[in-house]
Amino acid sequence: MCATLLIDNGIVLTFGDPGRVVPDGAVLVRDGVVAAVGPREEVRSRLEPTETPEVVDARGAVVTPGLVNAHMHLYSTFACGYAPAPSHNFKEILENLWWPLDRALTLDDVRLSALVPAARCLLAGVTTLVDHHASYGATHGSLDVVADAVRSLGLRACLAYEVSDRWGEQAASEAIAENESFLAGLSARGDPDLAGLFGLHASFTLSDRTLQRCVQAARRVGSPGFHVHCAEDLADVEDARGRGFAGAVDRLHAAGILGPKTVAAHCIHVTGAEAATLAETGTLVVTNPQSNMNNAVGVADVAGLLEAGCVVGIGSDGMTADILDEVRAAVFTRRQETRDPTRMFAEAVRMITVTNPSLASHLFGRTLGVLREGAAGDVVVWDYHPPTPLHEANVGGHVVFGLPASRPRTVVCSGRVVVRDGALPGFDWEAVAREARPLAQALWERM
Ligand SMILES: [Zn+2]
Repeated sequence: MCATLLIDNGIVLTFGDPGRVVPDGAVLVRDGVVAAVGPREEVRSRLEPTETPEVVDARGAVVTPGLVNAHMHLYSTFACGYAPAPSHNFKEILENLWWPLDRALTLDDVRLSALVPAARCLLAGVTTLVDHHASYGATHGSLDVVADAVRSLGLRACLAYEVSDRWGEQAASEAIAENESFLAGLSARGDPDLAGLFGLHASFTLSDRTLQRCVQAARRVGSPGFHVHCAEDLADVEDARGRGFAGAVDRLHAAGILGPKTVAAHCIHVTGAEAATLAETGTLVVTNPQSNMNNAVGVADVAGLLEAGCVVGIGSDGMTADILDEVRAAVFTRRQETRDPTRMFAEAVRMITVTNPSLASHLFGRTLGVLREGAAGDVVVWDYHPPTPLHEANVGGHVVFGLPASRPRTVVCSGRVVVRDGALPGFDWEAVAREARPLAQALWERM
């Protein structure tokens, strides 16, 4: 890794609030951190007289910070092409596909399942991932396998193992232990680009006793918060109501799960009072529009959650590694549902340019996802030469309708160039696929 990197000659979008557009701009990254952002000459003047940086010529194209995916399942890779039994609702989808899959995974499957989408993330300009992992076929050590896979490519990740009672008490205990040992081992790794949360599946597959054991274990190991699915489907809400709560949010709140470092994915079926609870606790709500459409579970009322004061970011829930795809889906699904083409534009743009960066910064304890002095040196040079004017007032239009039609040419994470000329140096797609296919076949036969 070159200690100093100069990304020169680009149209720099800084993201953040307020975001800036620097038309003839550059970014200087020194020792993994952004040292300067601004007009080219100004940035060049910040070089030390003896400093000879590696120069990346953006050739007049758009430059952004690395993107953040706030809820992902790397382990879902081997589901592609598998034909589960007909599944007519969300619970049947879990029972026929996801749960049999996670119970059949080996550590080798976990490694390859992580490697493929991690590579795709980087090629889509995503440098920070908040992942939610399950591999009940091989629980012990699985988070370390995921961590090693993603870090080998240079992707930053916050990992969690989803505790659930669905495979019995012994399996839940092993899942709790996996969270604990991974979280406890983080400081020994000393890697600022690796973080963890205590993972939980969802209220409806967790007994009161298991929830309490998780809270105690998280406290023991000093976990900053939890990563949980919440009110994704009405089944989760009905289960919580059957236990005497207003809904899934209400139950998780009563159990002590919610808080400013807890990620609650989906939050579709929430009452007004529950939205207020999510806001008051500072819980990090993450919406996942493509997955919601695919599972036919409903459309999250993002505008309503924002109005209630919630923090709402966006994730892809295993559906894609390309988070800009999700941003577009967030816009389109809401508009189609309401038949109102004025909906969700500003909210969607804010999620990817402001909220996801601040959410990730909060989880990692350092500034991420924005181009600002002192932020992590994550930079993407896109193969995007805007054919129309691009300025601070219309950045959103280019993020939703321009950037997604292009690909990143160069991606830098913490000062390390991880994508060059649109490819991952040293990563052999053919070899990875050749190793993965027989493992996936064997997995399907065990499901
Ligand atoms: Zn999920």
